[in-house]
Amino acid sequence: MSRCVVQRLRCPNCGVEQEEKVFVSVNGARIKTAAQRIIEGTWGEVSCLACGQRYLADPPRLYSDLPGGIWLVRHPLERRGRFVELEAEADRIFSREFLERPPAVIREQAAAVRRRICFGRAQFVEKLLAFRHGIDDRALECLKLGLSRDLLARLFAHGPWEWMTLAINEEGLDMIAVTVADQHLIHHTIVRLEEVRRIEAQLQQYEALFPELFGHLYVNASRYVTEQVPV
Ligand SMILES: [Zn+2]
Repeated sequence: MSRCVVQRLRCPNCGVEQEEKVFVSVNGARIKTAAQRIIEGTWGEVSCLACGQRYLADPPRLYSDLPGGIWLVRHPLERRGRFVELEAEADRIFSREFLERPPAVIREQAAAVRRRICFGRAQFVEKLLAFRHGIDDRALECLKLGLSRDLLARLFAHGPWEWMTLAINEEGLDMIAVTVADQHLIHHTIVRLEEVRRIEAQLQQYEALFPELFGHLYVNASRYVTEQVPV
């Protein structure tokens, strides 16, 4: 189910606040254009009533499309160090709402759903991109660890870094590496789609190599570099 709330938003240009109805939860099975608009950055666009500046409200906190096979929770980037407890929380909510209470037909559908949590707008967009392009996000995260290994000598001096997928098109995956500390751009590359397909075809071998990317709700190569906040 989609859900809206009225939020006070502040214009990044002039600082004037206004109230807008924003989606906190989006049912992608009902609103078919939602994922594409979130990816393109046109979802939740607001015009400042004072100066006319256009800016974006926060993306939804939940995107779900159970028939399509995805249930994606977004948290603020600042909370990423708490991924272990947030995974457990999301798992409890999903199990209660979709696996324990509903009739069998819904439970069967839910059991096959890609359940994920992510942090910040960039990860949220990346998850929706992978979903839209039929890419197994576990394979995508394995690809990132491979890229890090290949480019280790070049990226090492910048301190811990992570990869983001900005776009997927016929050329391949448009990817950047940014520093974990301040999200500063340090590398840009385009990876051919076949590289991901090759990993998807050998997923079991990759699971043995990178077990952290499998069997958890936070499927992100940054698990290997993020400092965890003790629970
Ligand atoms: Zn303004």
